[in-house]
Amino acid sequence: AKKHHRGHVVRFDRAVVDGARNRLDILKRLREAFDQQELFLVFQPKLSLQSGRIVGLEALLRWRTKQGEFISPADFIPLAEQSGLIIRLGEWVLRNAIEQLIALRDKGYKDVHMAVNLSVAQLQHPDILHMLTRVMGEFDVPSHFIELEITESIAMGDIVGNIATLNRIKSMGFKLAMDDFGTGFSSLNYLQQMPIDCLKIDRAFVQTSNSKSGSEIVEMIIQLSKTLGLKVVAEGVEELEQAELLKSLQCDEVQGFYFARPMPQKDLYDWLDKHQ
Ligand code: C2E
Ligand code: CA
Ligand code: CA
Ligand code: CA
Repeated sequence: AKKHHRGHVVRFDRAVVDGARNRLDILKRLREAFDQQELFLVFQPKLSLQSGRIVGLEALLRWRTKQGEFISPADFIPLAEQSGLIIRLGEWVLRNAIEQLIALRDKGYKDVHMAVNLSVAQLQHPDILHMLTRVMGEFDVPSHFIELEITESIAMGDIVGNIATLNRIKSMGFKLAMDDFGTGFSSLNYLQQMPIDCLKIDRAFVQTSNSKSGSEIVEMIIQLSKTLGLKVVAEGVEELEQAELLKSLQCDEVQGFYFARPMPQKDLYDWLDKHQ
């Protein structure tokens, strides 16, 4: 088990999670958790390396059971994806993240964007464009303040269909980011065809950037982003040296425990008062 700053994160034992019956148990609990409001969002700041100012937030899902245990999204998101629950859950996440964005805009943070993770299962759902239109219709906020983070797994399966959907989403004004870049299987050929605005360097590369080969990989991804005209964000920045390296390589934005942890609304407001 790993530590969460606001309590304990319970990692289900892999063998247990992999057992079909237990997966059904967790899924059943997850459905109940969703109905009983045990799920909530935390928000992690993204900062500009040049100015040190907050430029965005990533909304991340949390599950705290009535018994007070935290269950990691790494454990329950895959189940939500396999079961289809992610469709309802993802819509709920988007709506809540936009509500938070509007609250921040009311507080004067007018240039801050909100990033929301979008599963491939959501992207491939026939209702995705209607869902986005419906949710945006409920709020008075320009769609370009919302960045949807997708992973390279969209480069598998129906790539042509996925790119077409991304183009539609893009033309609705949303920003698109490629999450966990470098860990998946997308070829550079597909990357060029993706209508994305931003690459997020996976934290595995950031965390090995103290080695020569590690820093060269990070540098290469930053160069690639510039070549493609994309914004580049490093995630998982935990140390000053990593931040300094990224700054010297002209990475645009950073996100990580070194700067700020994902926080519930109240802590986020305290953090903003102190740091911004
Ligand atoms: P992700 O999208 O790559 O999110 C970044 C993860 O890195 C988050 O884990 C965040 O808490 C963690 N992180 C941030 N800074 C640091 C750091 O400095 N060091 C380390 N070691 N970790 C850091 P989290 O919140 O546990 O989320 C795990 C994954 O679950 C996410 O990875 C994302 O793939 C998925 N996820 C979370 N919320 C949602 C959601 O609302 N919808 C979807 N579809 N997926 C979600
Ligand atoms: Ca993400
Ligand atoms: Ca990521
Ligand atoms: Ca990840």
